[in-house]
Amino acid sequence: MVPFIDLTRQYKEIEEEILSATRRVFEKGRFILGEEVSTFEEEFARYCGVRYGVGVNSGTDAIYLALKAAGVGEGDEVVTVANSFIASALAISFTGAKPIFVDIEPETYNLDPDALEALLKRRRATGKRQRIKAILPVHLYGHPAEMGAIMEIADRYNLHIIEDACQAHGAEFNNKKAGSFGAMGCFSFYPTKNLGGFGDGGMVITDDKKLYKKLRLLRCYGEKKKYEHILQGGNSRLDEIQAALLRVKLRYLDQWNEQRRAKAHRYKKELEGTGVVCPAEKEGSRHVYHLFVIRSKKRNGLHASLKKRGIDTLIHYPIPIHLQKAYRDLGCQRGNFRITERFSGQVLSLPLFPELTESEMDEVAGAIRLFNDLSDRRTNRGKRRFY
Ligand SMILES: *Cc1c(COP(=O)(O)O)cnc(C)c1O
Repeated sequence: MVPFIDLTRQYKEIEEEILSATRRVFEKGRFILGEEVSTFEEEFARYCGVRYGVGVNSGTDAIYLALKAAGVGEGDEVVTVANSFIASALAISFTGAKPIFVDIEPETYNLDPDALEALLKRRRATGKRQRIKAILPVHLYGHPAEMGAIMEIADRYNLHIIEDACQAHGAEFNNKKAGSFGAMGCFSFYPTKNLGGFGDGGMVITDDKKLYKKLRLLRCYGEKKKYEHILQGGNSRLDEIQAALLRVKLRYLDQWNEQRRAKAHRYKKELEGTGVVCPAEKEGSRHVYHLFVIRSKKRNGLHASLKKRGIDTLIHYPIPIHLQKAYRDLGCQRGNFRITERFSGQVLSLPLFPELTESEMDEVAGAIRLFNDLSDRRTNRGKRRFY
């Protein structure tokens, strides 16, 4: 039996610190926008190498509010990828803008800068008013997107970059933290993320003081002073308890990411010669393995075979966003984004979390090897490398 993730193991490790932080908040009797939130905002922003952080109630709201702060709204378009979690696109839709997708790089599963450039060129050639306002690269699975090329393109076309770093706490591109490249970076503290709370939470980080001030208004009724409202903001706050608990966990983030990386390397070694494609780490990138996603041509069979042996795996994600019913009105079709679509039928996420044991990993790798040997015998073919 190998669970996909077991959050109780992490809790047990830091139980005393968690309980004493909880007690501290209860005893102070302040639960909304107090010292814990403002201190955590400073600490997390510093961790990411930027000036400001604004705690919000989820990663989805972090993206939505960042887009709003950048002035994205009705009639605008925002470019992102279709292999992400649907929240990336939903946050765009909530502003009234339309998500526009581009395909991904086969190596990292992230936004393909060439596809982005091709889209923008095509748009420019039509001579119509440019509706694309922003790019939302997603650092999917914990591997940073190709920020060098993306920033260069955004500069040339005068577009905002807002990063979806919800799966990439601590990931780096050229020694700079994911989330710190664009005008704003958006994080989720959903319990299973690399930095996860005990409930929902999120943060927008930025170096821009104006954006910082706007984000603070947007998350709390547009309130400048008590009962003085200068814009129509909502209620999207991180609460004191989550902030206090996340402050405890932030101190362990680097250590936990290192454990994830060590385990990822172990998996890669163990899975050599089993016919599956393991995640790559591009030169200059630091992958934090929020998920360890392999690809297999026999994904569904492998998924079922592991399940039968008590090994939990998940598919991130089985239906690309442009083919979801919720996005019927975009008028996309199968065939629009070939790599995205092909990979949605091949990807499989193996259990990987800092507290996963070596014997559990051996069990997973052994089961994959066994599946590979059996299906090799069945098809009588040894070669199954593919891209
Ligand atoms: C988790 C996640 C979100 C949404 O975060 P929530 O806190 O669940 O709202 C957005 N984008 C990506 C890529 C995510 O993984």
